[in-house]
Amino acid sequence: MSAERFDLVVVGGGVIGLGAAYAGMRRGLRTLVVERGSEATGASIRNFGHLCVTPQTGVARRHGLVARELWLRLARDAGVWLRESGTLVVARAADELAVLEELAEARSGASPGEQMPRGGAAARDEVQLLDASETAGRIPLAPGVAVGGAFLPADLQADPRQALQAITAHLAGRGVEFRFRTGVGAVEPGIVRTSRGPVAAQHVVVATNHDVDQLFPEVAERLGIVRCGLDMLRVAAPLAAPLAAPLLTGWSLLRYGAFAETTAVHALRERLHGERPDLTALDLNQMYTQLPDGSLIVGDTHYRGAAITPFQGEAAADALLEEFETLFGATPRVLERWQGVYASGPEEFLDLEPLPGVHLAAATTGIGMTTGLGLAEHVVAGFADRIDHEPRPRHHQEGTR
Ligand SMILES: Cc1cc2nc3c(=O)[nH]c(=O)nc-3n(C[C@H](O)[C@H](O)[C@H](O)COP(=O)(O)OP(=O)(O)OC[C@H]3O[C@@H](n4cnc5c(N)ncnc54)[C@H](O)[C@@H]3O)c2cc1C
Repeated sequence: MSAERFDLVVVGGGVIGLGAAYAGMRRGLRTLVVERGSEATGASIRNFGHLCVTPQTGVARRHGLVARELWLRLARDAGVWLRESGTLVVARAADELAVLEELAEARSGASPGEQMPRGGAAARDEVQLLDASETAGRIPLAPGVAVGGAFLPADLQADPRQALQAITAHLAGRGVEFRFRTGVGAVEPGIVRTSRGPVAAQHVVVATNHDVDQLFPEVAERLGIVRCGLDMLRVAAPLAAPLAAPLLTGWSLLRYGAFAETTAVHALRERLHGERPDLTALDLNQMYTQLPDGSLIVGDTHYRGAAITPFQGEAAADALLEEFETLFGATPRVLERWQGVYASGPEEFLDLEPLPGVHLAAATTGIGMTTGLGLAEHVVAGFADRIDHEPRPRHHQEGTR
């Protein structure tokens, strides 16, 4: 019996796999998504839903800008819950404000091609500095906490669990085939070996996140791709007002590309690491998003290795809750706890064709919700014209409206 044939087979039903299927669908490709779970349960439903394009640089910024447009399109066409919220950043010390000021200055000189496509807003609006009272007016902080802050208006917020379900349903309703509870054991040029039998594919996109080391161990080892584990909480808390946008803190400024490239970040890193070795040891990124039901996602910590222990130390949760209380002056009640895992490597992305027609696509740092749809679009655009396929109805109305 010959294998069923597809133009494109995608391995993995997370945001990057769905992004590849979305790109294939819009080009009229016969597309199959193979996902080992009965639904997506990976990093794409375990994150903050923070689509933080502004603090990205280089390739991440390019993928992020494309992804931003695709998220907006999916909000309109697929019923994805999306807030054009921007990002808020609270600065609790002068050295945190210095990082924000330096980025605001740098972005005021951004070339037009690099600007956010936000209703023609000038580049200088990308990072809007806030003084202490403006910050306190926009974020329900404990009294006296902020010395200033910033608003990054172009950023977005999704609800990860809702988004993955909505995009999956949207694609399934428009001709993308899904095979859930189906594991992929091997991928060779033109053939994907699944636990339900082989399928033939002109091109395969492997979007299995950290599990790329299961299908392509030598690639993961050569490129230094390991796993990063994260502790997360969802809490209820009596904040003085809703959180109008995802909230970053000084700890976040140590991480994202554009903040981390400032000269001011060195003094900030030295101070935070000197003052708080306990939080440094957790590799904290203190940040928050509020979901439509009012609950708050609280995180996160980071620990890396070829394997991630499933046993989450309670010290991490204690630290996250203590820092929450100090920042907001409100006592949180834990509703859920979970561990997230993502691929982590020296580069920000894995974008490689190790075998003819076999494409590996992953975010190898924690920015795949922000950039993943753009990465997937880039990967599929790179080979779609080479596919020899029976024309299928294209869904132009989505792509061009
Ligand atoms: C706690 C946490 C917070 C984060 N916060 C943010 C954030 O706010 N903003 C942001 O931009 N990014 C964030 N990230 C990063 C982002 O979530 C990831 O980069 C992104 O979701 C990765 O998408 P993916 O599709 O590659 O992986 P996943 O969502 O993990 O999907 C991979 C899928 O592949 C499937 N799979 C694996 N192997 C096989 C196989 N052999 N056969 C079949 N199926 C297979 C898995 O079951 C899984 O469903 C966060 C990540 C975590 C963990």
